[in-house]
Amino acid sequence: MISKNILVLPGDFVGPEVMSEALKVMDWFSSRGLIHFEIEKGLVGGSSYDQFGTPLTEEVINLANKSDAVLFGSIGGPKWHDVNYDLRPEKGLLNLRQSMGLFANLRPAIVFDALVDASSLKPDLVHGLDIMIVRELIGGIYFGEPRGIKKIKDNKRVGFNTQSYSTEEIVRIARVAYDLAAKRGNKVCSVDKANVMESGVLWREEVSKLRDEYYSNIELEHMFVDNCSMQLVKSPKQFDVILTDNLFGDILSDLAAMLTGSLGMLPSASLGSKSQDGKIPSLYEPVHGSAPDIAGKNIANPIAQILSLAMMLKYSLNHDKEADLIDDAVQLVLSENIRTIDIFEGVGNPVGTSEMGDAIISKLEIIAAN
Ligand code: NAD
Repeated sequence: MISKNILVLPGDFVGPEVMSEALKVMDWFSSRGLIHFEIEKGLVGGSSYDQFGTPLTEEVINLANKSDAVLFGSIGGPKWHDVNYDLRPEKGLLNLRQSMGLFANLRPAIVFDALVDASSLKPDLVHGLDIMIVRELIGGIYFGEPRGIKKIKDNKRVGFNTQSYSTEEIVRIARVAYDLAAKRGNKVCSVDKANVMESGVLWREEVSKLRDEYYSNIELEHMFVDNCSMQLVKSPKQFDVILTDNLFGDILSDLAAMLTGSLGMLPSASLGSKSQDGKIPSLYEPVHGSAPDIAGKNIANPIAQILSLAMMLKYSLNHDKEADLIDDAVQLVLSENIRTIDIFEGVGNPVGTSEMGDAIISKLEIIAAN
C-alpha cells in the first residue's frame, strides 16, 4: 500500500487535545490496513514561538510543501498577546497558507439530523442544511497594498487597507466553486459588493464569463453580501455553493457556522493549485480557534478536528469511502446522544474529549464489521 505523508501541526491550547483524537482515528485506519500514514509532527503558532522565537520555521514550511497534506489544529491565545505583531501565533498560519499557495478555503456548513435543535434557527429552516462556502484566502483586503497607519495633520492618524483582485485570482477561485458545485447541487451563488466597489464589479464580470465559457450547466446567481447575510438566516437552504472573497468569506462562513449549532463541529479545507506532478497543496483544520478558556480540561469537542481528517481523506487522499466511514461514525455517536458539553442536551452526562474520540472509534469498528 502506498503510504501518505501527513504533516501534523497540533498548535496551541486545545489544538493538541483535539489532534490526539484525530491521531487515534488515523491509527485505527492504519491498524486495519486501510490507509498507511507516514506522520511527521511539527510546532506552529505560540508553541513554535516559545521554542524557536518564530510562529513558523523554514523547516515546517519545507515539510508542509513535501507532504501529501497538512493536518492542522489551532493556534493562538492570551499568552502571546504582547508578542510583536509579526511574530504572533496567527501569523504562523497566515504565512503557512501563503507559503503553500492555499488560495481556496472550503467550509461546509452541515446540520446533522441529531443536532437540528442546537441551531439558533428554527429546526425546519435548517433540517438537512448542506452548504459549501468557497472563500478566496490569500488575496483581497487582508493582503492588498498599500496598507498601514499613518500620521496626518494635528496629531491625528489614519488607518488604511486595499481591496484588489486580479482576473487570475478571481478565475482560479471561481473554478474551484464550479467544480465543487458540479459534484453537488449544480448551483453557485457568487457574493460581492459590486454596487459600491470596483473590485466587486470585476469579480462579478469574471465569474460570469467563466461560467458562460466553461460551466454552462451550473446555475449561477450573484448576490450582494448584505443580502446574502440576510438570506443565510432567512432561508439558508436556498444555497448550494457560495463563492466569495477573503473578507466577505471570513464573515459569512462564521455566520453559516452558527446555523449548525457549534464551532466544535466544523471542519475546513484550504487548497492550492495543482502542480505538474498532479499534487494539490492542502491543509485541513477545524474552524474553531485554540479555545484557551476550556484548554487542559478534557472537555473540547474533537469532532471538528476528526471531520477535518475526513475532508483530507476525501479531497487530498482519494479515500472517499473511508471519509464516509468517519462521517457515518460521527452521525451514529450523535444519534446515540453521546455529546461533549458544547452540544450537550441534558440526556445522561456529557463525555470528555478523549471519550468522544473513543466513541467514534468504537462506531468505526461497528460500521466496518457490517
Ligand atoms: P475560539 O474558536 O477559540 O473559541 C470561541 C468559543 O468557542 C470559546 O467559548 C471556546 O471555548 C468555544 N470552542 C472553540 N472550540 C471548541 C471546541 N472544539 N469544543 C468546544 N468548544 C469550543 O475563538 P476565540 O476565543 O475568539 O480565540 C481564541 C484564540 O484562537 C485566539 O488567540 C484566536 O486568535 C485564535 N484563533 C485561531 C484560529 C486558528 O487556529 N485557525 C481560528 C480562530 C481563532
